[in-house]
Amino acid sequence: MKKREIHIVGNWKMNQTLHEISEFFIQMTAMKMELKCKAWIAPQSLHIPILKEIAFTTGAIQVGAQNCSYADSGAFTGEISPAALADIGVEFVIIGHSERRTIFKEDNEILNQKVLAALKHNLKVIYCVGETLEERESNTTFKVIEEQLAVGLKNVPADKAHLLLIAYEPVWAIGTGKVATAEQAEEVHAFIRGKLTQNAEQTIILYGGSVKPDNIDSLLRKENIDGALVGGASLKAKDFKQLCTSA
Ligand code: PEP
Repeated sequence: MKKREIHIVGNWKMNQTLHEISEFFIQMTAMKMELKCKAWIAPQSLHIPILKEIAFTTGAIQVGAQNCSYADSGAFTGEISPAALADIGVEFVIIGHSERRTIFKEDNEILNQKVLAALKHNLKVIYCVGETLEERESNTTFKVIEEQLAVGLKNVPADKAHLLLIAYEPVWAIGTGKVATAEQAEEVHAFIRGKLTQNAEQTIILYGGSVKPDNIDSLLRKENIDGALVGGASLKAKDFKQLCTSA
């Protein structure tokens, strides 16, 4: 029996049409949605209200965003306000995904501002950390992650620490089909838990990187792995459902 509740979080990235979303939920419903864990999905922002509506009728999933701004409002063309996310009832936001860090050049300082802004509105935050292949090969994995945690989570108020989840996503495993071994992942998860200064034992730490129905079990057997952040496999109802029921 796991100490912490398993969370399976689908990160749909910039994918899914309205037709595909409706097919996804038709298939999920046909497979009966008795999920054994917390099932969360982060669609593209403009699809959030549609998923909220579906979540309201099925009651089975919680809906989140893939990113948010550090500002509540103002002249930030194209950005997504954490205040607006909270206002429409979004439950969580992913901050610091490696695609945000690399493609959009978001550094630990900016991510810290985003984390604090989201927490201020009582959004749950999935803060992503992880090393590149180069960093792993040069034995700097722990140093990189320590820095991502220390800067990214600076000044998190004690009364908001329960809203925080961490996702360990080795960059070399995201969308590559190369999953970290359960032992490699557990080693980093235990390290992360050891570095958390607040709420450490209760904090959900997800693994992300090419998680599929055929590799989830060995990951979830590890003490410090409390679920998964899933890209590719979360787009297919059958795989997502299978991930949520194997949990
Ligand atoms: C992700 O985008 O967070 C991710 C882990 O993707 P994938 O599962 O496709 O590797």
